[in-house]
Amino acid sequence: MRVAVIGAGIIGASIAYNLARRPGVEVTVIEKERPGAGASSHSFAWTNAFDKEPLHYHTLNRDSMELWHRYAHGLGVADAFECRGRLQLENTAEGAEVLRARVRRLQSWGYRCRVMEIGEVSALEPGLVTDSFTAASYSAVEGHVDVPRVIEACLRLAQDRGAEVLTGRAVTGLQRSDNGKIDAVETTGGSVACDVVAVAGGTSTPELAAHAGVLIPQPESPGIVIRTDPRPPLLASVSVLHLPALGPDRADVHLRQTKDGVVQIGQGTQESLNEDDSQAHADDLLDRGARYFPALKGATALPQPVGYRPMPADGLPVLGFAKSARNLYIALMHSGVTLAPLVSELATLEIVDGAQVEALAPYRVERFS
Ligand SMILES: Cc1cc2nc3c(=O)[nH]c(=O)nc-3n(C[C@H](O)[C@H](O)[C@H](O)COP(=O)(O)OP(=O)(O)OC[C@H]3O[C@@H](n4cnc5c(N)ncnc54)[C@H](O)[C@@H]3O)c2cc1C
Repeated sequence: MRVAVIGAGIIGASIAYNLARRPGVEVTVIEKERPGAGASSHSFAWTNAFDKEPLHYHTLNRDSMELWHRYAHGLGVADAFECRGRLQLENTAEGAEVLRARVRRLQSWGYRCRVMEIGEVSALEPGLVTDSFTAASYSAVEGHVDVPRVIEACLRLAQDRGAEVLTGRAVTGLQRSDNGKIDAVETTGGSVACDVVAVAGGTSTPELAAHAGVLIPQPESPGIVIRTDPRPPLLASVSVLHLPALGPDRADVHLRQTKDGVVQIGQGTQESLNEDDSQAHADDLLDRGARYFPALKGATALPQPVGYRPMPADGLPVLGFAKSARNLYIALMHSGVTLAPLVSELATLEIVDGAQVEALAPYRVERFS
């Protein structure tokens, strides 16, 4: 079986890695720029299922989170995944009520999170100024990923098993035979013959799928994750801090620190829209973090370009073969960092073994037709 994988972000690279481990599967990855050039390099890379609804989508994320340790270990980059939990704080009575209700709902789904006393928060993260906090929650199962290292490892191991990785080659079309089957992928460097096409082109996936007449509605979903200069280790115990808003125009922020000491800060939740890539906005995000976490004072905020989330119109992934183009496998999703270990394994079951994975039934592209 010859499979052409379009896109070398975390999803395309993970699918290529899983496919290449199967005997008899010839994998060609086609990437228009360089591996990780798309949403994967803009990601906050937080593995979580906290705000994920409905239950089946929460469960999909959670099942994938549980695979991350094994996945990173198998790729030979065990330390590219860190899982020390997430601490979320609120500073209003209303925010406290919403957080407690969310925790109750998540607990009813068996998610490992709980409300935490403010005294416990101080013990966990002594660097936090806790005087204005009205509520806190802790989820032990959340963490973050070093995405570039994971992508690099996936592609390297896939190549070790014979996969070809073509970079700087854009897919421009799909060649279909009379029976509707896609026989080849047209690229800027010639065509690539295939039996199956797996489209993991991130925000370009709707445009790529449209070559085979498959329509996927996708609104724009811009986001910004700013960075700082490298700092000494900041967080004593947790992987991600989610700090409360400082007023109507200064929304909540989430922050993490990567192994190189760089602190990454994003606004709102993982899905919040933001296009302000100015220095002033980057300074403000840092200042919001420093209000509660004074160790950030003195850091330099480095604005980052806007990243666009691959985001199907209903916010849920699109996964599976299209009924109208039977050898076109689509893998388009937000939260791809959280989902990569699981969806790449399940996609492999569907592509190579012909399985129809029931857990993926809510995510078929036909729901939009
Ligand atoms: C600001 C922001 C914050 C985020 N935070 C989180 C988070 O905390 N946790 C989480 O789980 N997820 C998060 N996400 C989402 C996550 O990053 C994405 O879901 C994931 O990176 C998608 O990976 P992908 O491989 O599908 O797409 P991409 O990484 O976009 O990769 C697609 C690749 O396809 C290539 N390509 C496109 N068109 C063509 C073509 N015609 N020919 C060949 N190649 C092509 C692109 O160059 C690109 O390299 C965030 C995203 C953003 C933007």
